[in-house]
Amino acid sequence: MAELVEFDSKVLAGAPNVRLSRRALITGIAAGTVFPFISSCTTNPATGSSQLILFGEDQVASMAATAWTDMKSQTPVVSNTRLKNQVLNVWERTTAGAAKAGHIDPNANWDVAVFDTDDVNAFVMPGNRVGIYRGITELTENDDQLSSVLGHETGHVVGRHAAERLSVSTAAQVGLMAGQIAVAQSEELRKYGTTIGALGGAAMQFGVILPYSRRHELEADKLGVDYMHNAGYDTRQSVRLWELMAAQSEGQRPVEFMSTHPDPLRRAEELKRYINAKGYALM
Ligand SMILES: [Zn+2]
Repeated sequence: MAELVEFDSKVLAGAPNVRLSRRALITGIAAGTVFPFISSCTTNPATGSSQLILFGEDQVASMAATAWTDMKSQTPVVSNTRLKNQVLNVWERTTAGAAKAGHIDPNANWDVAVFDTDDVNAFVMPGNRVGIYRGITELTENDDQLSSVLGHETGHVVGRHAAERLSVSTAAQVGLMAGQIAVAQSEELRKYGTTIGALGGAAMQFGVILPYSRRHELEADKLGVDYMHNAGYDTRQSVRLWELMAAQSEGQRPVEFMSTHPDPLRRAEELKRYINAKGYALM
């Protein structure tokens, strides 16, 4: 496992050794980087994956808050009460499935927005924000498929994919390579402070525009199916959903979800295998 440089955060609670001197820490805080560096991988307890997390959860959440406020002020939300209630019900039931797995706090508050556009898309933003578009709800044929979308998004939350994605893209931007950084110097820390400040404008991208990695997708798919199963939904419908997406994307209407969620048919196949292996259903 490569040594990665990370900011501390709640993500790392209970984890790694802080190897930074107190003086460097204080300098870092003064430079606006706020979080002490920790040099070690973070292992996500839900997924077992090792992650590069450059941003503290609170920090990411505050960037997301701005992006979320912007989105809600710029995009109409549905006035159809029935659709809103359907989404909320499926969301609650699906996340209860995630809570049953011990992956999320059953008492957490979520901000769920149903946007009134044709986009076939859904996303999560850090800070318990979930956005789903009318377009994708119209593509789904039943609550099980809707649960599959929402379970998948919950999987991204549990996998902390947004923070990792943002961190990896930031790491790429600043030429940050695993194991290559001397962090205990104030000059370095200041550089990061500047980079992070400049990212404000990019906040809009994470969670919505940047594609997830293949590994993130697979993790989210599997977690989503686990939550569906826990919630009593028909997990086979997750496979059907991806087939529908694939079919739709070959038609006239572009499927937004697929620009950030590639390979629908391959994923349908992998989901099938997973569902069979878990014994959730026979497909
Ligand atoms: Zn995804």
